[in-house]
Amino acid sequence: MSVQLENRHLIYAMAPDNPPALRVQAGSTIEVHTCDCFEDQIQSETQDFGTLDWERINPATGPIYVEGAEPGDLLVVHIREIRLRDRGVMTTGPGLGVFGDELVQNVIRIVPVVDGHAVLNDRVRVPLRPMIGVIGTAPAEGRVPCGTPGDHGGNMDCTRITTGARLILPVNVPGALFALGDLHAAMGDGEVAVCGVEIGGTVTVSLHVLKGRDWPAPMLVNDEAVMTIASAPLLDDAATLAAKRMVSWLERECGLGKADAAFLLSAAGQLRICQVVDPLKTARMEVPRGIVEALGFSFPY
Ligand code: CA
Ligand code: CA
Repeated sequence: MSVQLENRHLIYAMAPDNPPALRVQAGSTIEVHTCDCFEDQIQSETQDFGTLDWERINPATGPIYVEGAEPGDLLVVHIREIRLRDRGVMTTGPGLGVFGDELVQNVIRIVPVVDGHAVLNDRVRVPLRPMIGVIGTAPAEGRVPCGTPGDHGGNMDCTRITTGARLILPVNVPGALFALGDLHAAMGDGEVAVCGVEIGGTVTVSLHVLKGRDWPAPMLVNDEAVMTIASAPLLDDAATLAAKRMVSWLERECGLGKADAAFLLSAAGQLRICQVVDPLKTARMEVPRGIVEALGFSFPY
């Protein structure tokens, strides 16, 4: 029986002084219930944006204090299951996303989830690809709004953060203070309209503590690849940083020289966009897992 964490425990910034909503032992499995990124305030396509409480945007459920997690450790988040509600929402408008200079009015679209698809309108339905937009730990100091990504994780909006993946986050404060929210029923790389198919739901995670590894978190491991994730004000810089972090990891973890690590990425790595619409932009560098395992990498979780 998993521990439950209800979605009345919400935070709007990741911070070291957030009181824990739950304390768990390392290795525990928790079912985390989330609101959508509007804290479920949008219930109709005719709703006026002006009626929304913009202080209640991008809530994350948590934080969870993991016993034994100490600064310098890594938190491994095994995403076991994502269960979605039966209805999502999308929004865009002037000043929002890539097309914000071309749009003249705000648009809200209620998106039913039917037969494994998100129904965007009567002509377009897309397959569900559930993922977690906001997921992170507390920074060592200060408050990072949940809408902002960074080295602590946060609003990375990375499509690879989904069922089966192991997300590796830094532990900056005792207990890590882990939180997540902002589920998407589907999202394309880039998140160009400023949203995915925003939706509430329940995420089952197991939380493990990894000690003695100097890795450039956030990282992600799935069946196919190992990834570094980086955020910066400009996408160019996020992409460069993600690639440099992977080269550095390959040097340390797999014993490759810098040029050989660079050749590997240049020959078989995939540098991809996570999102281009948040306060910092996010990119990821993916390297095939089989190649790094052949170089001696093994992952305990
Ligand atoms: Ca997001
Ligand atoms: Ca979102």
